Amino acid sequence: MMQETNTFNPLYTTREYFAHASGEAVYSHPRWCTGDDATRGILDTLAEHGATVIPLTFFRALPGGPVDSDTYKSIISETLSALECAGPVDAVCIALHGSMYSSVDNDPEGTLLGRMRALTGFEIPICAAFDMHAKLSARLLENIDGLVGYKTAPHVDEYATGQHAANMVVEALKRSQRPQTIVERVPLLIAGEKSETSVPPMSVIIGELKKTEGTFRHLGVSAASVLLGFPWADTPHAGVSIAVTYWPDALKIARGEAVRIADMVWAFQSDFNFTTETRCLEDAIKVALEFIASDRPELPVIISDSGDNPTAGALQNMSVVLEHAVKERLPSALISAIADPDAYSIARSWFEVHQSDAILHGLRIGTVSHTSSQPFVWDCKVHAVHDLDRVSVVVLESQGITCLVTDRRVATYEPSLIMDCDIDPATFRVLFVKCGYQGPEYRSIASRSIVALTPGDSNEDLTALPYRNTPRPIVPLDNIPGRRPVSPVTS
Ligand SMILES: [Zn+2]
Repeated sequence: MMQETNTFNPLYTTREYFAHASGEAVYSHPRWCTGDDATRGILDTLAEHGATVIPLTFFRALPGGPVDSDTYKSIISETLSALECAGPVDAVCIALHGSMYSSVDNDPEGTLLGRMRALTGFEIPICAAFDMHAKLSARLLENIDGLVGYKTAPHVDEYATGQHAANMVVEALKRSQRPQTIVERVPLLIAGEKSETSVPPMSVIIGELKKTEGTFRHLGVSAASVLLGFPWADTPHAGVSIAVTYWPDALKIARGEAVRIADMVWAFQSDFNFTTETRCLEDAIKVALEFIASDRPELPVIISDSGDNPTAGALQNMSVVLEHAVKERLPSALISAIADPDAYSIARSWFEVHQSDAILHGLRIGTVSHTSSQPFVWDCKVHAVHDLDRVSVVVLESQGITCLVTDRRVATYEPSLIMDCDIDPATFRVLFVKCGYQGPEYRSIASRSIVALTPGDSNEDLTALPYRNTPRPIVPLDNIPGRRPVSPVTS
């Protein structure tokens, strides 16, 4: 069950956004065939150990707004009834994102595990693989035995984390013991753009987690994880958790390591900084134009529209970047992509009648400000229409500015959407993309990468967001001098 919820996004995530399979169909699901996720790591590993595996359900969606009540209830009930139908099992192993939120439940993972436990009883081990951006509620911890989180951001070890969780289950069955997990809290909200694992301080923290696992494995430590939580989820479970899973004799070591690493994360609190050049939008555009004029680079300057990043769950319909690009008369710019079903369908109808010859006057696109529903009004040609397998796109164009408008939210953290529209992103001078940090595919075609601090549901300036449910005090919303406060686990 994997979805990362941005609670500031007012648009509910509905069932159609979830990739879904149940029973044996889990094996043939396209997501499974990509071969890189935690679910596959779990299934492969259990099969290698000769286990009889009963796949229950698979639900995975693009990050977005809270999961609506009906979708959420159906995910929980379908999974539980599959578990019930499976009959008595020896163990449960599950892949969870860990930062899902529903309009009717702020702790779906805790609810799922609690209700699974009610079915299985406390005799069998339940272990899970988590995304690094998971939150851990007290209810979740009461009902789970072992857990392990990703150790890379951007995440490239999902499969390995699934393998780790499955190996925990196998060891539990061999030992006839359930592992236990101890958690230490760190009251920090940290954006993904400030916590890439290839650079300090995260590279140092991950190094320490691996050292803990390596040094103390033979003494009973099974996994050490940093779960950063998700800063754009306003929940009572917000903040960073250090979780150490151990076999019953190793409590003292596990506690010592959890405290040691949690204190280290706390000491690093002012070292979580942007790793890419970061500027306000006006500055980013100014600097890009100066750079292009002086250095005449062959490749585009790529600017992230970080406040409206769909992979951080934002609504993805802000047109503030388009508005600035038009106002500044950028000579050659591409914007990927604004999700606006109304603008999409008007432009598509226009294209079907006029093709790309006539100007569509007064097309209203997206919203220009987060607090206003005012759209940007543009006179443009509809250059092309593309029906892709995951989304439909209209390609709009006027005076050197090209803007992709989609019929639904879609991930734009890498350039495949642009290329699927038969557009070469490298031919533009400035490329605006709705993402946070730019992945390797963008970096390989960028003469310069800039993260623009734009408004929206994934605003990088966390102090500008209206938190109501997040436990306080928490850094950076508050200043907490001195040692790491010892906060109780919230249920
Ligand atoms: Zn994540």
